[in-house]
Amino acid sequence: MREDSEGFRYPHIDLSVCIRCDLCEKVCPVIHPNPDSSDPRICLAAKSRNGLVREESTSGGVFTLLAADTIAKGGVVFGARFDDGFNVVHDYATTLDGVASFRSSKYVQSYIGDSFLRVRQFLKEGRPVLFSGTPCQVAGLRRFLRKPYSGLTTVDFICHGVPSPQIWRLYRDSVARKLGAPLTAVSFRQKNPGWRDYSVRFAAGDVVSLVSHREDPYMRGFLNHLYLRPSCADCPAKGFTSGSDVKIADYWGISRVAPDFDDDRGVSLVFIKDAASPALGLIRAGADTLDTPLEPIRRLNPSLYVSSAPAPRRDLFFKSVGRDSDVVSVIKKLTRDKTVVILKRYIGICLQTIGMKEKIKRVLRKGRG
Ligand SMILES: Cc1cc2nc3c(=O)[nH]c(=O)nc-3n(C[C@H](O)[C@H](O)[C@H](O)COP(=O)(O)OP(=O)(O)OC[C@H]3O[C@@H](n4cnc5c(N)ncnc54)[C@H](O)[C@@H]3O)c2cc1C
Repeated sequence: MREDSEGFRYPHIDLSVCIRCDLCEKVCPVIHPNPDSSDPRICLAAKSRNGLVREESTSGGVFTLLAADTIAKGGVVFGARFDDGFNVVHDYATTLDGVASFRSSKYVQSYIGDSFLRVRQFLKEGRPVLFSGTPCQVAGLRRFLRKPYSGLTTVDFICHGVPSPQIWRLYRDSVARKLGAPLTAVSFRQKNPGWRDYSVRFAAGDVVSLVSHREDPYMRGFLNHLYLRPSCADCPAKGFTSGSDVKIADYWGISRVAPDFDDDRGVSLVFIKDAASPALGLIRAGADTLDTPLEPIRRLNPSLYVSSAPAPRRDLFFKSVGRDSDVVSVIKKLTRDKTVVILKRYIGICLQTIGMKEKIKRVLRKGRG
């Protein structure tokens, strides 16, 4: 796998050692999409009854409920965590402490490494495996395994797209420089002041930066599709095509759908393909749940079905960053709120007009004098 100039990894085949088995094409989920895109049987709003877990999770903490059961059965949980340098990597855990590092969304494409090989190894040893990842990672794993394993449960999420690891590295390093010390903690989804208006938190020892996601330049660039992987613009794993057993998401809009259920500390939206899945019992046992219709979700969480169109200035962004410009100022420049820009321009014109009027008045007064 080699990183391109935008910071995304792509496979390169060394033809001098390739034996032309075509296996890479046989297991490719883009060439062979999943024919089953049927809607899930179960659609729920859920919030874990464990307050601490819910606080540390992105939405309602459903992932940890499923992971805890796998660990209790002596199984292995795969997820994405930060490594020592705050790169996002896929890894596995066999303890609840290990699972804690997977909690909370990291808005960067994770380095999948040899996770698929390890999943297969654990399954062959007869250990239960819970694999959690993006819909395309789950679709890729299922094709890679080439046959169903009864011990495997897969969880993905509604995905907006994955940002470039290179842009994350540049941003992370620039925050560390600003804070004046190496980073010791990062959270993209601090529920402060609340789940809906979450903040991005960086800590470098005692020095902490807590910025609303609306103001944080990295989140603005991510939500404006400035540096998503190009394939996210035409995602082959939208809807329910990844084949995951469970799909989780933020239940945006719950305050309107079921106001009494919402306390602004995070509600998960959960889709379960098969009504007989053990996941349903686990979630009902460990979380407060509410059955909910699928139809309004199309409007409330469009990323379920719709790919993220690239920002019109995506190319300009990568060219500017490539020219050694400071990543923060480039993001700020290219994501400036259009209404603010128009308002500033309008105020400028008004001030200019007033200034001109004053000048004309002065000239007329002088003339009269
Ligand atoms: C890149 C990205 C885009 C997303 N886009 C949307 C969206 O458009 N709409 C929406 O409703 N929800 C989106 N989510 C999902 C959402 O943020 C929550 O992850 C989801 O609601 C689960 O919450 P939880 O409280 O149950 O789990 P948490 O405890 O928060 O668990 C998070 C799970 O996500 C996995 N994970 C975290 N980061 C990554 C990563 N970079 N790559 C692969 N897996 C990862 C972890 O391994 C863990 O299993 C996105 C998540 C990511 C990582």
